[in-house]
Amino acid sequence: MRQHVESPPRRRVTFKFAKTNVMKNKKGDVKKGTSLKKGDVLNITALLKRFPAVCALMLFGGSLSPLFSWGYDGHALINNGAIKNLPSEMKFFVKKRKVINKHVMDPDRRKGDDREEPVRHWLDLEYFGAPPFRALFEFKKPPREEDYKIRSGKLPWAIAETLEQLTEALTENDGEKIILLAADLAHYVGDGANPLHTTENYDGQWTGNRGIHSRFESALIKRYDSSVKIGTFSAVYVEDPLKFIFEYLIESHGRVEAILQADRKSCWEPGIYDNYYYDRMWGELEALINDCFSQGSFTLASLFYTAHINAAKNITPAGDSGTN
Ligand SMILES: [Zn+2]
Repeated sequence: MRQHVESPPRRRVTFKFAKTNVMKNKKGDVKKGTSLKKGDVLNITALLKRFPAVCALMLFGGSLSPLFSWGYDGHALINNGAIKNLPSEMKFFVKKRKVINKHVMDPDRRKGDDREEPVRHWLDLEYFGAPPFRALFEFKKPPREEDYKIRSGKLPWAIAETLEQLTEALTENDGEKIILLAADLAHYVGDGANPLHTTENYDGQWTGNRGIHSRFESALIKRYDSSVKIGTFSAVYVEDPLKFIFEYLIESHGRVEAILQADRKSCWEPGIYDNYYYDRMWGELEALINDCFSQGSFTLASLFYTAHINAAKNITPAGDSGTN
């Protein structure tokens, strides 16, 4: 389950925050006096006064969005878009595309068994200041849990870690591992393609758009997935994967506001999400959605390609990766 907070406190508890701008009610709309610095310590009373919405979440169990993710169709679209654009020498990925798709939802399936998994599917960029989110680039590793009782998410580091593991699997020429890790990488990169995985207002809960997350990534895409267009491109070798991933997520985040606006425009009657609503949403967002999927596919293809090149460098001249 996506959790912004740890277990709800039973009695007076102190919280430490690091580098947070936690309480932006809307993108770019910071409440005066809510910015906290590393090492700030608050007690629950102070927290209640300053952050009532967050405390309400804590007191009522603290989780909002259990299983948000593109459905299978969305993740498979991104994987297919990546693999069709890989250089011709990466035939293994082309041959195994369907098997990779079969496993593309594995990371979501692990969420129930592994407490650390859910937080790997999103990043609340607001925790790292305002655009261009320079503070984010200081984090070569995820923020320490103990500093982030209200979590920022770990998506970029999950992508980078999976890329390293995939590179190792390619170096070892372990076909099964390559498939599973390629699927994991496709999943995490695919999550980043959804702008709502990059914001603390991930369900429109602070802007009158509650429920937008599943309307956008599930219901709308289910209706229109066959209309999504992913163009052709050349995958690139990525020198600095983490920076590349950060930039990808920041670009994705730039689409949040347009989605929220389209949601407001398309809803003709509060709470009614009918054919009219979805048709109008698609009309408003078709170009943006094509960009989400194209950018996701380009990023994934480039990371696959980078793993392939780096693995080839690791292999001795006499070796054969077997994945060409
Ligand atoms: Zn996910």
